[in-house]
Amino acid sequence: KSVIHLEGIRKSYFLGKNELPVLKGVSLDIFKNEYVALMGPSGSGKSTLMNILGCLDTPTAGKYVLSGHDVSKMEDNDLATVRGKEIGFVFQQFNLMPRLTALENVAIPLIYAGINKKERTERAIMMLEKVGLGERYKHKPNELSGGQCQRVAIARALVNNPSLILADEPTGNLDSKTSVEIMDIFGAIHASGNTVVLVTHEEDIAEHAKRVIRLRDGVIESDRINQKAPAL
Ligand code: ADP
Ligand code: ADP
Repeated sequence: KSVIHLEGIRKSYFLGKNELPVLKGVSLDIFKNEYVALMGPSGSGKSTLMNILGCLDTPTAGKYVLSGHDVSKMEDNDLATVRGKEIGFVFQQFNLMPRLTALENVAIPLIYAGINKKERTERAIMMLEKVGLGERYKHKPNELSGGQCQRVAIARALVNNPSLILADEPTGNLDSKTSVEIMDIFGAIHASGNTVVLVTHEEDIAEHAKRVIRLRDGVIESDRINQKAPAL
C-alpha cells in the first residue's frame, strides 16, 4: 500500500515573468513501513520536494496521493487538515515551544486533534518513554541537550499516529555521537511500523535508511535499496 504516490510532479517558481523549473517530473511510490533517505546536492530540489510531500506546498503539475487522499489540487484549508492527520514533522532546529515542558510540547498535536487532557498526558508520556526521555518530561527545551530536544520533537511527530514521518536534516544540529543515537531512534520507529522519509546530505546518515533516493537538478538520479542498512 502506497503512503506516497507521486506521478510526474513538477514545480516551478515564478520570478516575475521568469519561470524557474525546480522539480522536472518526479514519479515515485513509497510504501507503508519504508525507511527512505532523500539526498542530492544543494539546489537539486530536496526542500521543494519535502514541502510538497509535507503538504506545505502544492505542485505546479502532476499528481500526489498521500495515504489515499489526492492532495495535488487541494486548497490550503483541506491541505492543513490532511497534514495534521497524516504527517509528523521533525526539523533540524527542533522547533519546540520554549516556554512549554517536554510533555506539553509532545501533547500539542493532540490538542488540535481534540483529545482530552488526561489522554493527552498519557499518550505524551508513552511517546517520551518510547524515545528514551521518560524521566525528563517536566524539563523545558533550554534544560535539555540538543539530542534530548530532538527526541522530544520525534515524540511530538509520532504522538498523533501519522501515516508518514518527514524529517528534514534531523541530525544537522547534532554532534556525530548524538546523531547516531537519533538515527537509532528513527530505526526503532521504523521497526515499530512507521513510514519514515528523511532528507540528509550526509552519506553516513543516509546509510541508516533502507532505501536511498538521489535527486539531481530536479529529477530522480538514482533510487536504490541500501544493503548496508543496520539490522533491526
Ligand atoms: P535543495 O533543498 O536541494 O537545496 P531547494 O528545493 O531548496 O533545493 O531549491 C531548489 C532551487 O529552487 C534552488 O535554485 C532555489 O534557489 C530555488 N527555490 C527554492 N525555493 C524557492 C522559492 N520559494 N522561490 C524561488 N526559488 C526557490
Ligand atoms: P535548505 O538548506 O533546506 O536547502 P534553503 O536555504 O535552500 O534550504 O532555503 C531556505 C528557504 O528559502 C526554503 O523555504 C526555500 O523554499 C526558500 N528559498 C530558497 N531559495 C529561494 C529563492 N531563490 N527565492 C526565494 N526563496 C527561496
